[in-house]
This record gives sequence, structure tokens and C-alpha cells, in this order.
Amino acid sequence: MADTEMDRTHTFSENDPAQQPRAEKAFFADCRFSQIFLDCANDLIQSIDREGRFLYVNKAWQETLGYDEAEIGALTIFDIIEPEYREHCITLFRDIVEGKISHTYEVVFVAKSGRRIPVEGKIHTEFKGGKLVATMGIFRDISQRKEAENLLRNQKLLTEKMIRYSAVPIFVLDPQHRVTYWNRACEMLTTIPAEEMVGTANHWQAFYGEKRPCLADMVIDSADRHNLADLYTAARNSELKEEGIHAEEWLDAVGGTRRYLSVDAVPIYNHAKELVAVIETLHDLSEHKKMEEALTRLATTDPLTGICNRGKIEESLQQEIIRTARYGSPMTIILFDIDGFKKINDSLGHSSGDQALKEVAATVAKQIRATDVLGRWGGDEFMVLCPQTMADDAVTIAEKLRQQVEHLPQGITISCGLAGSRPGESMAALIKRADKALYAAKSAGRNLVRRAD
Ligand code: GH3
Ligand code: MG
Repeated sequence: MADTEMDRTHTFSENDPAQQPRAEKAFFADCRFSQIFLDCANDLIQSIDREGRFLYVNKAWQETLGYDEAEIGALTIFDIIEPEYREHCITLFRDIVEGKISHTYEVVFVAKSGRRIPVEGKIHTEFKGGKLVATMGIFRDISQRKEAENLLRNQKLLTEKMIRYSAVPIFVLDPQHRVTYWNRACEMLTTIPAEEMVGTANHWQAFYGEKRPCLADMVIDSADRHNLADLYTAARNSELKEEGIHAEEWLDAVGGTRRYLSVDAVPIYNHAKELVAVIETLHDLSEHKKMEEALTRLATTDPLTGICNRGKIEESLQQEIIRTARYGSPMTIILFDIDGFKKINDSLGHSSGDQALKEVAATVAKQIRATDVLGRWGGDEFMVLCPQTMADDAVTIAEKLRQQVEHLPQGITISCGLAGSRPGESMAALIKRADKALYAAKSAGRNLVRRAD
């Protein structure tokens, strides 16, 4: 590109010799070769005099701001600065003219079209004989970066608000076990405000009386996972994410109340597959669980005596038979029936009969082991299931039960028939043998114990 053409295209004040002191002219004569390079630059390059008029702008400047040469000749720097930055720029410019500073700074230009162009630039000042001859500014259009920053800021804000106002109690730990989020619902559940928790590793205090890992901590220290079974009764992989953990349990004091919490702790990894956070979500299922437990109780308990009902003891017996078959361990059942119970009903009334049933159940329940199961088989007939027990030992147990009932003040007695399980024997066959033994005890005079063959 010829020097004359360059003059015409990109240096403006030069057209008016009155505005162009000699020193500036000389300076630009030196610079013409460099201007070719300046026009190749993507950055916006400008030079202005001490009044703020443009001495030179490069091609990128012209294309971005959209002014033609004639317009540029009539502009000052203050015309292309967004009004809210103008005051700041006037101060800055004064400092530059006085030789005080040479700075990198951000400002917003306004194109002829009105488009805002955020730029980041450096200003170089050229002095001759103590006087400013020109400033040279190189500015980079940072619209895209600003947009990306804005997008990121908005996304962060959205994420924060989503967590904050989710109806589900959520807290988030960083890989150092510090709380980074403790949302509104979590505050409500635990009655601990976020400002007390965020930045600390005290989240355990919201759930446990003494320090121990929460589920999120165990996701961070995956080495601790083998302790999972010790700390949680029914932990398993989370359905939300494979590497996550799910657990449910009754906790004694969450927000001052005993609560059944269903918890999922899920790890979040970055692109480099490094752990950046663990999100723990909590569901308070206390009411649901209480109802479920009440229903189970109702479905498995005999309402009169409070011991297992027939359905429940049959279920336990079935499980025990399976275990016996698998491990070859012994198991014995004792069937017992109140002697002459009809007479109690007939002579003392039905409610006294009910009372007698309750007392017999309570007396027997007190005698058996925690692993034994007592159930009401029907009417005045009961069953005791004794796992891990040989029939010989069960004879002693049954004899003890018979004696304890005999000692009740009402003068009630029971007859017992017992049978030890045989390999491969069905539940029905086992019960049938016990029933036969009971019948034998009744036939032999009642208030007796008989063992099946
Ligand atoms: P046995 O010595 O041969 O066992 O004679 P028993 O009179 O006890 O005869 P059986 O075991 O056949 O009688 C059971 C009676 O229990 C019959 C029934 O009216 C009564 N019964 C069944 N369920 C209840 C109950 O829930 N409450 C009361 N009070 N009586 C019941
Ligand atoms: Mg009876």
C-alpha cells in the first residue's frame, strides 16, 4: 500500500495542517511502514491527540465501529465511549495527557450503529520535549468473552437459586468435606441456618449426636465404603447415579424430632474426571414410614394378645424351613392348646376367656428366647417356633412353658406337642406331626408335653 493512500485512508487530522503540529507530523512519517502491519491486526488500534481527536485508526477499528473517514475526522474519543464510562475516561485521559499513567483498562465503545462493544485495551503515550504528541491505544473486542462471562454468571445464579429454592432438602460438600450449599429446605428440616454450616465440616451435627461420616462423606472417601454396612442398615447404590449411595434410616434428632430419612449422595466430576462436589438430597419419609410400620403391625399381629398372628408365624416358619434346608441347622416347633378352654368361656364369660388367652400369651412370651417366635395359631391354640433347636432341647422348653402356665392363679393348663424339622420335610408335614403330638398330649390326660416321633 502506497504512503499516499495510507494518508488518505487512515490519518485524518493530517488533512488539516493547522491542527497538525510539526512534531506529530514527523512522528507519523516514522510510523508509516508500521501502519501496514497495524491494518493487518484484528485488534482496534487508534491514536489520538491531546484533545482526543483521532490521528489514526486501523482497518479493524473502522470496520468494527462503522464510521467512514470523514466522520472519524470529526469525532473525538469521547464520542465513541459509552456515556456511563465517559466521566471516568475524561479523568483517565487527563492523567494520560499529563504523563501520569499508561494503563490497561476496560471500556465500552459505541459503534455508529449504536451497538455496544466492550473492549479491553492498553494505552501507550508518546512524548517529545515533555509534550504529548500522540497516544496509541490497542483495544480488543471482548464482546464474546463478556457474553460467555455473563452466561456463566447467569448459569451459576440459576444453579444456586435452583438448589436454594428446591423443595427437597439438599446440601453439597466439596472434596475436602466442607459444606458449599445448605439449601432452604435443608434449613427447615434441620433448623440449622446455612450461614452456620457453609464453609464448615459440621454437617454431621444436623443428623447425629456424635461425629461420624454422613453418606456424602462416604462418597468422597470411597475407601470408607466398606464401613457402610456398619453405619447404615440398608445402604445400596443410588438409583440416581451408579457411583452414588442410597440409604434410609431412623435418626434420633433431626431438627429436634425423630425422623426417618431417605438419603441419596451423588458425586459430581469435572471433565478431567476429578471429584468436584457431592450432592446429598434428603427425603423426610417419617409419616410414610410410621404408617407403613403401623400397617405391618396390623397385618402381622394378633389384635387380642399382641403376639404374631397366624399369617406372620407361617411366614417365619416358611423362612426357617428354607434356612434349615440350606444350612442343615435344627429347628423345632411347639404347638400348645389351652385345656378345657370352652369351660372357662362358659363359666366365666367370653371376656374372661379373652383375658386367659392374653395371660397365657404373655406368660409364654416371657419364657422364650429373643430368636424364638410366638404366634397365635387360632382359637386357644398357639405355636412357638424355636430356630437352631433340637427337639430334645425343645422338650425342656415346652415343659418349662407348661409349668409356668400351670402356676398362673387362674388354674389354667396347656398341652404341648412338639416336632423337630426333618430334612426335606414340608411345612404342612411338620405341623401335622406337631399336631399329632398335641393330640397325644390331650389324649394322655392334658397338661402334658408330647414329642412327635
Ligand atoms: P381341649 O382341652 O380339648 O382343648 O378343650 P377346649 O375346651 O379347649 O376345646 P377347644 O380347644 O376345641 O376350644 C376352643 C374354644 O376357644 C372354642 C372357642 O369358642 C374358643 N375361642 C376361640 N377363639 C376365642 C377367643 O378369641 N376368645 C375367647 N374367649 N374364646 C375363644
Ligand atoms: Mg383347647
